Amino acid sequence: MKAIAITPGKAGSARLIQMPAPHPSASDVLVRTLSIGVCGTDAELAAGVIGRPPEGEDALVIGHESLGMVVEPGTRAKEVKRGDLVVAMVRRPDNCPACRAGDADLCTKGEYTERGIFGAHGFLAEYYADHESFLVRIPPALSAVAILLEPASVVVKALRHAGRIQQRMAWEPKRALVLGAGTVGLLAAFLLRLRGLHVDVYSREPKTSARVALLKQTGAHYHTAIGSSFYDFICDATGSPQVLALGVGRMAYNGIMALLGVCAEREPIPVPVGELNNRIVQHNQVIFGSVNANRCDFEQGVQDLQDIEHRWPGLLASMITRRVPFAQFAEALERTPDDIKVVIDVSAP
Ligand code: BGC
Repeated sequence: MKAIAITPGKAGSARLIQMPAPHPSASDVLVRTLSIGVCGTDAELAAGVIGRPPEGEDALVIGHESLGMVVEPGTRAKEVKRGDLVVAMVRRPDNCPACRAGDADLCTKGEYTERGIFGAHGFLAEYYADHESFLVRIPPALSAVAILLEPASVVVKALRHAGRIQQRMAWEPKRALVLGAGTVGLLAAFLLRLRGLHVDVYSREPKTSARVALLKQTGAHYHTAIGSSFYDFICDATGSPQVLALGVGRMAYNGIMALLGVCAEREPIPVPVGELNNRIVQHNQVIFGSVNANRCDFEQGVQDLQDIEHRWPGLLASMITRRVPFAQFAEALERTPDDIKVVIDVSAP
C-alpha cells in the first residue's frame, strides 16, 4: 500500500513509499484511511525538528489527525463494525501506573509512543490497524468535519483539567482569553463560547483575516493587542515566549492558565519573574501545561463538535481551507498564510 513517510531528523525527507498493508491480528481492527489533517507538529516532523521512527526502522509514516472507515473489525471487536467512521487516538501507553489506568495522556514514564510522531507509524497510509480501544466512533453527520476531532480533543482535555483544578473553590468563570488563532486557538474559542464564556482572542492576523470572521460568528472578540482586562481562564495556543509573558499577567484573582503550545524559539527573553511571582502568589493563580488527550476527551469532543455544528452551522467546515489529493501530499505540508486546516484526502468514503 501507499504511505507517506519521513526520515526523522532529516529536513525535507517526506516521500511516498510502498509498504505491506497491515494484516491485523484478531484483536485489531483494519481501517481504511479517508483523510488526514496536517498541523504544526507535522510541519516540525517534515522539517526534521522532532520525530522518532518505530524501533529498528529508519522511516516513520506520519499523520496523526485521522478519519477512517472500518473495513474489517476482527473477531474480537465489541464496539466497532464494518462501515463505521472512526478517529484514532494518537498516544499508545507504556507500563507506567497512569498508562495502565487508561491515562496515557498523563504518562509518568515517557516511554509511550505516539502514532505518526514518536516511535509508531501514523495514519497517512491507505490502511492502518489498531485495537478498538483506541478508535472513537464518529456519527455520519460529522463526517465532513471529524478530522478536527483530534485537535479539538487536546482543547477539551485542557478545559476538563482546568475545571478539575478549579474544584479547589466555587468557580464560575466568566471571561476567557485565547492566545493564538491557529486551529487550536480557534477551537478553544469556539468551545469556550459554547460553554457560555465571554471570549477574547489575541493574535497577529489582521482583522480582515478569515479566522477573525469565524470568531465573530461565535461572538468571540478579536484583538491584535493584549488589553488591560483580567481573565478567569487563559488558554495559550502559541507557545511564544513573548505572548506567554504578556498573558500570564492577565490572569484574574484565582485565575488559571493552560499552556498548549510548544515553541521553536529557545532564546531566553527578559521576563519580570519577581513581579509575576507576586501576582501569582497573592492572587492564588495556577499555570498548567497540557498535551495529548484522553479517550473521554475524544468522546466529549464528538459531542462538542455536534453542538458547534448545531449552534453555528458551517463554522467547522469553514476551518478546512484546503483539501489536497494524496498524490500531492507535499503541497499540504507547505503552509500558506491563508491556511487554517489543510486536509489530505487519502481515499473516497
Ligand atoms: C498532537 C498530540 C500529541 C502532541 C505531542 C500534537 O500535535 O495533537 O496528540 O500528543 O502533538 O506529540
